[in-house]
Amino acid sequence: MTAFVFNEINFDNHEQVVFASEAKSGLKAIIAVHNTQLGPAMGGCRMWNYASEAEAVRDVLRLSRGMTYKNAVAGLPIGGGKSVIIGNPKTDKTPALFEALGEALERLGGRYVTAEDVGTSPADMANVALKTNYVAGLGDRGDPSPFTALGCFVGAQAAVRHQFGRDSFDGLTVALQGLGHVGYDYARRLKEAGARLIVSDIDQAALARAQAELGAEVVATDAIYDVQADIYAPCALGATVNPETLSRLKVKIIAGAANNQLATPEMGIACREQGILYAPDFVINAGGIIKVCYEYLNTPETGLDAHVRRIGETLAEVFAQADADRLPTSVVADRIAEARFKK
Ligand code: NAD
Repeated sequence: MTAFVFNEINFDNHEQVVFASEAKSGLKAIIAVHNTQLGPAMGGCRMWNYASEAEAVRDVLRLSRGMTYKNAVAGLPIGGGKSVIIGNPKTDKTPALFEALGEALERLGGRYVTAEDVGTSPADMANVALKTNYVAGLGDRGDPSPFTALGCFVGAQAAVRHQFGRDSFDGLTVALQGLGHVGYDYARRLKEAGARLIVSDIDQAALARAQAELGAEVVATDAIYDVQADIYAPCALGATVNPETLSRLKVKIIAGAANNQLATPEMGIACREQGILYAPDFVINAGGIIKVCYEYLNTPETGLDAHVRRIGETLAEVFAQADADRLPTSVVADRIAEARFKK
C-alpha cells in the first residue's frame, strides 16, 4: 500500500496525525498536529462531506500547516493544528458525534485545541466541551469575526500606506467579494474611512443591506474581477487569485479575509510582477484566532485590540522586506513564520 499521508505534499513534517473513530456515534475524524514548538496546536474543526478519505487527509494537512504559519506570524503562544470530521454537516450531525470528538481530543492530552470552523458551530463545540476542556470559541464570549474584520482593515491601511503613500481611503474604491460575518464589518469600516464600495455576494439580502446602509454599488458575482477599483477584498472563497482573475483585476492591492486566496504559490510571484501588493491571507485574517486564543488562555482582553492592530505593523514589515529582497509578499510572510516556529 502506498503511504499517502507521508507522501502528501502538505505533510511537511507534521508532528502527529490521528485517525479517530467511534462506532456508536459514527465518528470518523482526522486530527492533524503540525507543529507545537510555540505552544499547543490550535485550529478549528471542519465538517465536510469529503469525496474520499484521501481528500480529507489532504484538506486537514493543508489547513493544519496553515495554522502554524498563521499563529506564528500573529505572535500567539500556540502551534498549528486542525481537525476534520468526515460527514455531511447538514444531515450527519449529532451531539454524540461531537462528544466522541471531545473524547478523542482528551486522549491527545492538550496537544491540540479545537474550535468551530466551516460546517461546525459554537453549539457543536459545546458538545465537545462536555468531554474535554481542549476546545475554544464556544460562542459564549462573542463572535471572532469583528476582530478578523478589524485586522483586515488595519492591514488594508498598511497596504494603502505602502502602495499609495497615504493614510486615507478617501477617493479609493474597494471591490469587496462576500458580505458575510467578516466582509460586512470590513466593508463598514472601509466606508467609514472614506472608501467607495463595489460589492458582490450570492445573498441578495446582504447586497440590499450594503446598498442601503453603505451606499455600495452592487455587481454580479463574476463581474467583481472586472470593475475599476484600487483594492480587491476577497471575503468569501479561496483561490480567487488565479491566472484568469489576475488577467482581469485592475487593482493595485489585494487585501481580504478569505483563506488560501492564492490558487497556487506562483500567484504570489504573478502579483508582484503585475505591481499588485498582496497582503498575505494568513497574516491579514488572523484577528479571529487572536481573539479565540485570548479567550482560551484567559488572557486579559485589555491588550486584545492592540494585538489585532499589530497586524498592520506586521504587514508593513512584510511589504518593506518584500521590496528590499524583491520577493513576493507571500514568500516573505512564510519566512517570518518559519523563523519563529522552526527552531
Ligand atoms: P460567511 O459565511 O459569514 O460569509 C461568506 C459570504 O460570502 C456570504 O455572505 C456568502 O453569501 C458569500 N459568498 C459565497 N459565495 C460567493 C460568491 N461566489 N461570490 C460572492 N460572495 C459569495 O464567512 P465569514 O466568516 O465572513 O468568512 C469569510 C472568509 O474569511 C472565509 O473564507 C473564511 O474562511 C475567512 N476567515 C474568516 C474568519 C472569521 O473570523 N470568520 C477568520 C479567518 C478567515
